Amino acid sequence: AKKPGRPPICFFTAEMNAQVHERLRLEQDLNKVLARGELQLAFQPIFRAEDGAYVGAEVLLRWLHPERGFISPTTFIPLAESTGQIVAIGEWVLREAGRQLRRWLNAGLAPGYLAVNLSRVQLREDLEQLIRSVLHDNALPPQALELEITENILLDDHQQINAVLGRLHGQGLRFSLDDFGTGYSSLSYLRRFSFDTLKIDRSFVAPLCDDAEAAALVRAIVAMAHSLSLKVIAEGVETRAQLEFLQALGCDYMQGYLLSRPLDAEHFTTLLTRFARE
Ligand code: C2E
Ligand code: CA
Ligand code: CA
Ligand code: CA
Repeated sequence: AKKPGRPPICFFTAEMNAQVHERLRLEQDLNKVLARGELQLAFQPIFRAEDGAYVGAEVLLRWLHPERGFISPTTFIPLAESTGQIVAIGEWVLREAGRQLRRWLNAGLAPGYLAVNLSRVQLREDLEQLIRSVLHDNALPPQALELEITENILLDDHQQINAVLGRLHGQGLRFSLDDFGTGYSSLSYLRRFSFDTLKIDRSFVAPLCDDAEAAALVRAIVAMAHSLSLKVIAEGVETRAQLEFLQALGCDYMQGYLLSRPLDAEHFTTLLTRFARE
């Protein structure tokens, strides 16, 4: 019941309390997410621009909450990062990606590589051990995994991160620089870290066809990446016009709703089965 004469600030306080409460609820639910088996992986295929050949897929995390239904990773991953829960969740993602690759290989399919998103909290000394165990447990070559990291991660602790990444790269793992152009870009990262691919963010791809400056930027990014021997993946390709433009600009790989939305494992198996027949 509303008490008369209270200042309107109370409404905001109540709302803020509700937000804090909501956050705590989600945080508690996140603690049980692994035990309850509520996480799933989705897979979005990546294709070579030149001939449309399938090369691999990006792994995207999905949370199916028993009461709330689907919760977007853009909501729960930042929360899991701030509480540290992302370490256990991220380990599950890597292990499940490895197991899924093994299932597809055992079924005689050709899944290519899986690209897994890493949070900065996961870039620790023990990441190396975890990756080695995922590869070993599923009898996979290092090239089966690609690790996607954003440029903001690189702000943290250059030397330590660089050493971990450098060792993994030396063992044959591939790295991609995710969301290129959206963070605190410093081009010197590209020289200092051992990246194999650069992913051009969707925000550059979306305006491509109607904005000459966006096109000039993408052209410059591709030229720079190629001069550093990096391959370029365009993210968020939604229209045929964008696809053709990106091909003309020399992008190496394409990913986006035009080609395929992220699919659950079952639908992705169907896709791989179709590719195997073609
Ligand atoms: P991201 O790494 O940039 O992933 C690409 C996002 O764009 C995905 O959103 C994907 O579903 C969406 N997308 C792909 N193609 C298109 C398109 O053509 N149009 C549009 N509008 N969107 C497209 P999603 O799955 O909601 O993931 C959001 C973000 O959550 C990811 O952005 C990534 O930063 C993070 N994330 C997802 N899975 C993981 C994970 O396992 N670990 C970590 N640390 N982060 C993850
Ligand atoms: Ca990504
Ligand atoms: Ca991205
Ligand atoms: Ca993004």
